[in-house]
Amino acid sequence: MEKRRIALITGGSKGIGAAIAAALARDGFDIWLNYRSDHESASRVAAEVEKEGTSCLLLPFDVADGEAVKSALTPLLENDTPYAVVNNAGYAKDTIMAMMNEREWKGVLSVALDGFFFVTRLVLVNMLRKRQGRIVNIVSTSGQSGMPGQTNYSAAKAGLIGATKALAAEVAKRNILVNAVSPGFIETDMTHDLPKDRILPMIPLGRLGKPADVADVVSFLVSDKAAYITGQIIAVNGGTYM
Ligand code: NAP
Repeated sequence: MEKRRIALITGGSKGIGAAIAAALARDGFDIWLNYRSDHESASRVAAEVEKEGTSCLLLPFDVADGEAVKSALTPLLENDTPYAVVNNAGYAKDTIMAMMNEREWKGVLSVALDGFFFVTRLVLVNMLRKRQGRIVNIVSTSGQSGMPGQTNYSAAKAGLIGATKALAAEVAKRNILVNAVSPGFIETDMTHDLPKDRILPMIPLGRLGKPADVADVVSFLVSDKAAYITGQIIAVNGGTYM
């Protein structure tokens, strides 16, 4: 029997990552679910995934910690290679530039960029050998348009957009496709405390997005239907930035 494809999703204990795990489980992927600290939520996601008849391996580690990434993934990669990697782990620490401290700057950049680098590089070596794979990076409207109060986050996501395009060009000949999905305002913990009366007028479709709106696009990008798409930034933002 042919082995099931594996999808490694970072930051999957809640929000967009959890919705991606559920969607890819429905698509028939076995899931490797990374998260940082919320074991309880991650276990709930695993239960949802397993309901779809696929497996869910929980992998708690900090994507910005190269040694932690290596010790979690290296033993697994000796036997298996994820077909898809979704670099979704990320967080925002908003404040105006004049007030931003070095920890707020470096922390946000590190999870987005070092996290992408450490996780992707390890899996990529195997993908290159297999001559197949899909990498999807979750970026943000902030990385496309720039957002006041988010100099760190906008820089991190714009950096990841650049990395997406460079890597896509680099590995296309080996049949590895690299794209980014760029959400606007999505209903998760990250946006929970934002003032909705100020946000809604910025969204032509008149509502915040749902995690599933983003997950559906990721599901498409890792499917056989997206075999001729690489190096693209697909916005899922209700028209917020066109
Ligand atoms: P969320 O609900 O806050 O969830 C974030 C997830 O990332 C959690 O599973 C968290 O794990 C994990 N995480 C954070 N830092 C990590 C680290 N260093 N190592 C491993 N895992 C880490 O966030 P979300 O709204 O779903 O956002 C997911 C992605 O979409 C992020 O990259 C974000 O920038 C992007 N995005 C979100 C929006 C939005 O409106 N929500 C818009 C544009 C882009 P634990 O909780 O277990 O620690």
